[in-house]
Amino acid sequence: MTAATPCDAGTRERGQQSVFCGLTGVVWLHRKIQDAFFLIVGSRTCAHLMQSAAGVMIFAEPRFGTAVLEERDLAGMNDHQDELDRVVERLLERRPDIRMLFLVGSCPSEVIKIDLDRAAQRLDGRFGARTRVLAYTGSGLETTFTQGEDTCLAALLPRLPAAPADEGKSLLVVGCLADVVEDQFARLFKDLGIPVRFLPPRNSQALPAIGPQTVVLAAQPFVGETVRLLERRGCTRLMAPFPFGEEGTTLWLKAAADAFGVDPARFEAVVAPGRERARQALARVRETLDGKTLFFFPDSQLEIPLARFLKRELGMVPVEVGTPYLNRQLVTPDLELLGDPALVSEGQDVDRQWERVVAKRPDLTVCGLGLANPLEALGLTTKWSIELVFSPVHGYDQAGDLAGLFARPLARRALLKV
Ligand code: SF4
Repeated sequence: MTAATPCDAGTRERGQQSVFCGLTGVVWLHRKIQDAFFLIVGSRTCAHLMQSAAGVMIFAEPRFGTAVLEERDLAGMNDHQDELDRVVERLLERRPDIRMLFLVGSCPSEVIKIDLDRAAQRLDGRFGARTRVLAYTGSGLETTFTQGEDTCLAALLPRLPAAPADEGKSLLVVGCLADVVEDQFARLFKDLGIPVRFLPPRNSQALPAIGPQTVVLAAQPFVGETVRLLERRGCTRLMAPFPFGEEGTTLWLKAAADAFGVDPARFEAVVAPGRERARQALARVRETLDGKTLFFFPDSQLEIPLARFLKRELGMVPVEVGTPYLNRQLVTPDLELLGDPALVSEGQDVDRQWERVVAKRPDLTVCGLGLANPLEALGLTTKWSIELVFSPVHGYDQAGDLAGLFARPLARRALLKV
């Protein structure tokens, strides 16, 4: 049974989905929090997914792994909590460098109802002096792959200390950023005179303190639940387009600058060199993308900010912008700049979307891995949306690289035609 109903921004679809699950977030989270370990409690399928999503990598000391549920576990013949204790004990004995351990739930662990929150509490009581233990779910039931980061950060929130009452106002940037991008933003905020912290931090022992003086700026559109919980802890949320491209980055920084009363002349002076670099980099790619039609399948939740960037800064023509969830709390500024709500479809009904993409034959289709090959076989040019999450794409100095990710498939197609 499938359905498509109108909503105030285009259509809302409910049908079969074709997306990765939230476990995928482990791939970028384990690189970010460098003293953490992600123990997935799942099946062999989950282990295989992680291996393919992370690439076939051989680590001397990997920072994620899967506690594989065997048939006896699935049949309820083992005591899951005892088994988990044994696995964690062995892991922490062998790896004293792990300072934060995430137990990551999966579809199988949810279906057989392993209570990972209870396990995390018990294990934290036992090992917490050296290794904090937390649990979150990366299950693919009703979620899309970027939500794994949101559930992970939401699980981390109760551990964030309360900021001292006399501590001044500070900015908290929420959502994983590549280290190089985080460093660039940290420098810009410093030049603007804004004290800033990032969530997640690179080190689990350096959790940012939060409170009523904390101003939250989301760096990723898929951290809605985390932002909502931060507001419940008294933080103030800023609304801004996401920092993709010259325009998005400037408006994102401006939202922070205004909240901290930065003098407009100082703001202009600080951002001018980055804006110019971004403009020059985008001008080089615009020639390839200008006037090309664009179709987004719902996948990463980055679709609306990216469509805004590609339309307004590179002249592309979106014909449909699918997004798994329309998180108005975060994407309204991008939605307004995108300017045509009828383009947006929320949720997924892959069969109906497939019919529309085949009928519209856009110049470029952004979609998940599973749809890319069959679309290419039909002669359509595709871009894997997962690459947009794995690559450094935020900020002025990445604007050209971000545009290049969309230009490359078109250039490749043109070469193949020659
Ligand atoms: Fe598959 Fe669910 Fe495991 Fe993800 S969590 S790999 S969707 S079984």
